[in-house]
Amino acid sequence: MVDEKKVIRKKIRATSEMGRYMTDYFHELDHASKTGDKKIAWCSSVGPAELLLSMGFLVYYPENQGAMLGSARMATDLIPHANALGYPPETCSYLTSDIGAFVKGETPLKKAFGIENVPKPDVLVFNTNQCRDVKDWLSWYASEFHVPLMGVHTHRNPTDITDTLIQSITKQIEELIEPLEKISGNTFDMDKLKKRVALSRECSDLWKKVLDTAAAVPSPFTFFDGTIQMGPAVVLRGTQQAIDYYNLLLKELEERVENKEAAVEGELYRLYWEGMPVWGRLRAHSELFAGLKACVLASTYCNSWIFTDFDAADPFNSMAKAYTELFIVRSDVVKERYIEKMIDFFKIDGVIYHDSKTCPNNSNNRYGMPQRLEKKTGVPSLVINGDLNDLRCISDEQTQTNIEAFIEQLEENR
Ligand code: SF4
Repeated sequence: MVDEKKVIRKKIRATSEMGRYMTDYFHELDHASKTGDKKIAWCSSVGPAELLLSMGFLVYYPENQGAMLGSARMATDLIPHANALGYPPETCSYLTSDIGAFVKGETPLKKAFGIENVPKPDVLVFNTNQCRDVKDWLSWYASEFHVPLMGVHTHRNPTDITDTLIQSITKQIEELIEPLEKISGNTFDMDKLKKRVALSRECSDLWKKVLDTAAAVPSPFTFFDGTIQMGPAVVLRGTQQAIDYYNLLLKELEERVENKEAAVEGELYRLYWEGMPVWGRLRAHSELFAGLKACVLASTYCNSWIFTDFDAADPFNSMAKAYTELFIVRSDVVKERYIEKMIDFFKIDGVIYHDSKTCPNNSNNRYGMPQRLEKKTGVPSLVINGDLNDLRCISDEQTQTNIEAFIEQLEENR
């Protein structure tokens, strides 16, 4: 039997500073919503945020609210309210919990930041690069608030990102300018867009360095830390605040690496997480793995906000490229190559695939990928059943039993 120990979770000092940035971000949105002093765009998490920021919009991300509903464990009770509106339980549980919360007049922003309501949008902007659900989700709000919906339709599952493909996305992003000028009352300014793209690139480079510290043995950082620390990369990319924060965080993690300070005391096993987090079980999962001396230290999910293609000298094409080269939108051939690279870079002993019931887009275990990758790399994997937000899809006992058995298997293989 593997030895399960009581766990002391190591806090990251920089987190309190992140809280300050996030508070300022949400209060600025709340103020704009109440006074109308600035226009507000809602944007899917990997939508064209740089363009919106350059045109003077404050940008709000409903998926961030979805994750907050999950981690506050508010989601499961709210989902049925969206089910009643025609979004059944199989639908993305970010969408259902967020719409359910709206219908019930609830938001996690109240407890976290003293904010009563989500900010009212002036426009809703999507990119279907991650899934169709984001468009459906924002469509619901477009009719609720009577505001325009627009966006980018990305080609699904390409292996090669060809020039033809990029040109089509670039054109779609450029076509957003005219309607956005009308809504914002501002004229598009290329220099402002270049500045935002440069800021996003710098944020992305720093975020990558933060995540890459986990390649050290022992790792100074866990996937569960990453799901919290990624907040600025999602909602503050394109701003100086995100850069300031990641410089601070990186310094702390580099100190940990230098001092060989482990995120999981006595790290014995190094694991990769493929798929969505289970937001309502972050703490439980973090403690479960740490108790088994297993450090889940890297993930496709946290890596999804690394956009190394951003180039301020060529903003439209580089945005099109960055937002199309995403893991989630690519073919299995590309995805498998990517995970193989991660296994090697992070010196991974095992891969956990989360089969998230309401997000087929981010569940990569359903078409033979774990088996193919195991055969190719020799690194074992485990599929756990669950969901990002709907806790009714989870059996905690089953998850624990499966993870313990998997760690035993890793131990036997040593
Ligand atoms: S990628 Fe998955 S979790 Fe994210 S919005 Fe789409 S369906 Fe929902």
